[in-house]
Amino acid sequence: MSEARGLASAAAQQPPQMQHVRDAQEVLRLAGLRKSYNAGTALEVEVLHGIDFSLQRGELCALVGPSGSGKSTLLNLIGLLDAPSSGELFLAGQPTRTMDDVARSSLRNDGIGFVFQFHHLITAFTVLENVLMPLMIRNGRPTPAQRERAMALLQAVGLAQFADKKANAISGGQQQRVAIARALVTEPALLLADEPTGNLDTRTAGEVFELFRRFNRDFGCAVLVVTHDPRLSQRCDRTLTLVDGRIVGDERHPQPAPE
Ligand code: ADP
Repeated sequence: MSEARGLASAAAQQPPQMQHVRDAQEVLRLAGLRKSYNAGTALEVEVLHGIDFSLQRGELCALVGPSGSGKSTLLNLIGLLDAPSSGELFLAGQPTRTMDDVARSSLRNDGIGFVFQFHHLITAFTVLENVLMPLMIRNGRPTPAQRERAMALLQAVGLAQFADKKANAISGGQQQRVAIARALVTEPALLLADEPTGNLDTRTAGEVFELFRRFNRDFGCAVLVVTHDPRLSQRCDRTLTLVDGRIVGDERHPQPAPE
């Protein structure tokens, strides 16, 4: 596949730390992870009570659970956007709990891609500029190889012809596909998605989900996706169920081999 070749050649030019994160077999490991809010006050409340699981390279895993069970809290911890109260979180084997902010942001930028329910594209910018945004934040002006990778990703999500359109000139489903391309432009080892299909109709949701499956198979990134939709979680390799701040289910679903 030519777009995959373009993406692979861009990968060869990344700095060593990224290679290390991307090549790790065990992408993520949580060990006894706990999180309390309002620690040390009368309002202290523990919402995650010791979470243990790991994700391997290439796994596509759903995270399900009722509202208030702690899914967003857990995703924020895994995304290195917040720190646990105790326990440890290893990203590509690196312990992260006591990392300083600079090391934490660098590991986050290099290792993790995010897709949210509301895509948060910058509407004043073009589709291509939105995809390049994580690289521009990191390095300033994108290199030709990075532009090539961004275009290859837009091609892969079927939107190359819209590259120069303003982001608000395309449909909601197309915007979510752009957000997926943006999350993958840094070649993350781990893709985190919070209800990425939550505001899409069933058919578009299915198409967006297929992109996760395809990128997960083509590039081997681990994907953790929060979803309320059992049809989507059944199409993942695995479903983790969170209830009241505890993992109460860890089910594997064998998937048909790719065509
Ligand atoms: P979910 O994403 O599964 O709906 P959350 O992680 O948002 O669950 O919330 C888990 C629990 O933590 C809820 O009881 C919620 O009220 C509480 N919570 C979330 N954020 C905060 C916060 N910043 N301060 C205090 N409590 C919070």
